[in-house]
Amino acid sequence: MDGLTGSEIAGFVVGGLLLGATIAAPKVDGFIASSQRRSLGMCKRCGDLRIVACSQCKGMGSVRKGGLLNLGMLDDLYESLGAEAKTENLIPCTKCRSKGRLLCPECSKVI
Ligand SMILES: [Zn+2]
Ligand SMILES: [Zn+2]
Repeated sequence: MDGLTGSEIAGFVVGGLLLGATIAAPKVDGFIASSQRRSLGMCKRCGDLRIVACSQCKGMGSVRKGGLLNLGMLDDLYESLGAEAKTENLIPCTKCRSKGRLLCPECSKVI
């Protein structure tokens, strides 16, 4: 280790720490954000919006008739032929009553 001074070693260590911090930053941000929200009394799921996107219709408010058992390949074929999204195959989402969003389960649990 000729010529490797203490300050150089310190530089490597600091560099390594900075690199680690950079990589970990998004995770730390997420952690801080959620803990901040919690400490502020905000809902960690919706940030106090009290609504979350409906998981069944992905916020669209409607779902395809037949769901996963639908003839998806045929639909894709029609769509690739330039047909508009066929609204007759869409039925209002029963989970959110076609609103596309639901009351936040975290908030409604508290209330
Ligand atoms: Zn829905
Ligand atoms: Zn909430």
